[in-house]
Amino acid sequence: MTSIITNLLKLRETRKKIVGCLPLYPPMEIFHSMGLVPITLWGLRDMIRSLDESDRHLQNYSCSVARRAAEFILSESGSMLDGIFAYNACDTLRNLPEILSNGLQDAGRPLPLFQIHIPMAPRSQTDAGDYFRNEIFSLIRRLEETFHISFSIDRFQDSVTKYNEVRNLYRRMENLAASGKMAFQDFMVAFRDSGFLAVEDQIRFLSGEVSRFLKKDPKQVKHPVMISGILPPPLPVIQAIGAAGLRIVCNDIASLGRFYGYSPDLNSSVEQYYVDFYENHIPCPTLLYSADNRLGYLLSLLHDTSAEGVIFVGEKFCEYEYFEFPYMEKRLKEEGIPSVLIEIAVDDEDNIAAMKNRIDAFAEAVGQNEGR
Ligand code: SF4
Repeated sequence: MTSIITNLLKLRETRKKIVGCLPLYPPMEIFHSMGLVPITLWGLRDMIRSLDESDRHLQNYSCSVARRAAEFILSESGSMLDGIFAYNACDTLRNLPEILSNGLQDAGRPLPLFQIHIPMAPRSQTDAGDYFRNEIFSLIRRLEETFHISFSIDRFQDSVTKYNEVRNLYRRMENLAASGKMAFQDFMVAFRDSGFLAVEDQIRFLSGEVSRFLKKDPKQVKHPVMISGILPPPLPVIQAIGAAGLRIVCNDIASLGRFYGYSPDLNSSVEQYYVDFYENHIPCPTLLYSADNRLGYLLSLLHDTSAEGVIFVGEKFCEYEYFEFPYMEKRLKEEGIPSVLIEIAVDDEDNIAAMKNRIDAFAEAVGQNEGR
């Protein structure tokens, strides 16, 4: 918790305008290139314990991601924001901006809201490239008008380079965890501690962590496994996975691998950069046009990392993930790959006994699969 608050205070000291972005994959580089500081409002698990403000506006059967983001924005912490960005990530997040706007209006501190619509039709069905390029163009115009700043392609290039560096450092850390030089738990601590930092500080911090763990001796991998879901499981669950003799060697987590897995270079315009960024994004159930590529992607990741099973980390009330889990579990079973689903709800993260039992049973199934 301390690291999030410390990092947020540090951000405030920069006196730059801060844009709170609703998950999952906002166009961070645009905001940064225009002198703004974008923060993606997930990873708030350790900071937000009470949901009083959120509960006044959202049903308690909304996912924890939306509830915590709403709590952050509508409570005192939200006063550090100068704007909110949202796109059509999922049904919950589609409706959230309007709710937040009204809540902020009632609280007497309205904020400018910036929205884009990402076309969700597969490109093979319809080419919405022109429409989306216009969305990016319009976002930039609105930011210019609202904050009296101007866009520069040179500064955008610099921002692309910096964010790509951050994604690259996360990928290197994941490789360190896969090789046994870094416990996955240490990776998660570094990931958490790098959240809510300016991108330049993230690069400094993560580079230091990569250098530190590169020097370590690798530990033997017992049973390599993958985790998949929207958010990584809480640290006690990661510890339970390790204690069961499993090692997380790869992840298909939205806030981790799906987020840092692909970073295009700037080849032409800013609009085209984001056409590429979203079109070729790591498949995610919230990017509907990528849904057909999900299974192939998971299987190739399992193959490349020799992972022997998958732990699905279900974010309670996330329809997008829950529609997919039964199909994935069935198809993995057909391939002889064991999987297990553990569910994380907003209020049961401190009570992991049942999850631990499921993980232990899963570890046995993975062990029995050995050598097949
Ligand atoms: S966890 Fe699922 S429902 Fe919640 S914000 Fe993310 S994608 Fe939407």
